[in-house]
Amino acid sequence: MSSEKLGFEESLNEKVINAGRCAGCAACVVVCPFLCLEYSGETPRLVKDCQSCGICPRVCPRYEWDLQKVEEQVFGRNRSQTEEFGVSRRVVLAKAVNNKILEACQDGGLVSALLTFALENKIVEAAVVSGIDQEKPFRAVPKLATTFEEVLKCSGTRYTYSANLLALKEAIKQKKTSLAFVGTPCHIQALRKIELIPLKKYVTPIKFVIGLMCTESFTYKGLIETEVKNKLKISPEQIKKMNIKGKIMIQTKSGEEKVLSLKEAKIHTRQGCHHCQDFSSELADISAGGLGLTGWTFTIIRTQKGEEMFQAAEKAGAIKTKPIDMDAKSWKLLHLLSRKKRGL
Ligand SMILES: Cc1cc2nc3c(=O)[nH]c(=O)nc-3n(C[C@H](O)[C@H](O)[C@H](O)COP(=O)(O)OP(=O)(O)OC[C@H]3O[C@@H](n4cnc5c(N)ncnc54)[C@H](O)[C@@H]3O)c2cc1C
Ligand code: SF4
Ligand code: SF4
Ligand code: SF4
Repeated sequence: MSSEKLGFEESLNEKVINAGRCAGCAACVVVCPFLCLEYSGETPRLVKDCQSCGICPRVCPRYEWDLQKVEEQVFGRNRSQTEEFGVSRRVVLAKAVNNKILEACQDGGLVSALLTFALENKIVEAAVVSGIDQEKPFRAVPKLATTFEEVLKCSGTRYTYSANLLALKEAIKQKKTSLAFVGTPCHIQALRKIELIPLKKYVTPIKFVIGLMCTESFTYKGLIETEVKNKLKISPEQIKKMNIKGKIMIQTKSGEEKVLSLKEAKIHTRQGCHHCQDFSSELADISAGGLGLTGWTFTIIRTQKGEEMFQAAEKAGAIKTKPIDMDAKSWKLLHLLSRKKRGL
């Protein structure tokens, strides 16, 4: 690969960050063997002399991205022309059975149900997820969850950015040997590039990867401070849940329901999201999304690993499923959003 021995400045800084294409995934920060990079303001920054080892450009999802190569590595084949949302084995609607999960989750709670099932059955020691900042309510931050309660605390969606790979680094530091990983498509792309090298330290502990569907994420200042706090006059501490289904719906802790225009909020989309081509986490073991549904998670099982995990949870009664109706809006929306993200 041409980036073999390039340094950070001439690769990522010039071609990705200064070009406004950085997703903010933090993969470069995580893998630098010389700890040259720091992560602040959702951007990596050089804090000491780069040793030009060439590692960081090799994990960046926005630098020399080769979908065919990564797909070959994950699935052993490339998608066919008809597989518009990527390779899959089974597509199904799923939901958690546990009422506490159903209460806390975003859609059907499939993600939290799989994580708690894997933790309780000792398939994994911890789950790399995203939680809520203690100081800035509804700001997403990377977290490591090791118990049912911790998974539950992190359930639901924050539409700001969370560099979950930083929690993976923390898990490795804590010497965790079996992990589940949850992230947005940009995280999964970076993770798959880490697998391609492979950087075994990060790859070996990961038992399965759940990718969330994602149209975009927003700046905290724009979405929470400008739209929710200033426009709707809701203090961020009061947000109970936020969901996007064509419009931004906010539920407050006192039971109010408020709506924001998604179209207007789009001015707060993070710059790096405009360069993103993956809607449905096309490289995950299992992908999960809402796609306009209520109370169910639209689920795409893509790999054998994903299928084994899902089947085990289903067999144990931790989740229930219902077939996809291919005439339904959600099925069409998945195709539409996948094409749209690819600029088609
Ligand atoms: C930024 C963002 C944008 C999304 N956009 C869409 C969309 O356009 N269309 C669509 O169909 N679905 C979208 N989703 C996915 C959707 O909101 C749900 O996460 C998904 O349907 C799973 O629901 P669940 O009830 O099974 O998950 P839950 O059981 O509620 O678990 C959700 C998991 O998401 C993690 N999480 C929460 N916020 C973040 C974050 N900011 N970054 C990374 N991980 C996070 C939590 O750690 C938790 O483990 C988006 C998710 C995110 C994070
Ligand atoms: S030393 Fe660090 S910053 Fe420099 S190229 Fe290697 S990984 Fe990148
Ligand atoms: S996209 Fe990720 S890996 Fe690439 S420069 Fe940005 S933070 Fe680093
Ligand atoms: S659109 Fe979603 S997946 Fe793409 S860069 Fe933004 S947060 Fe990441």
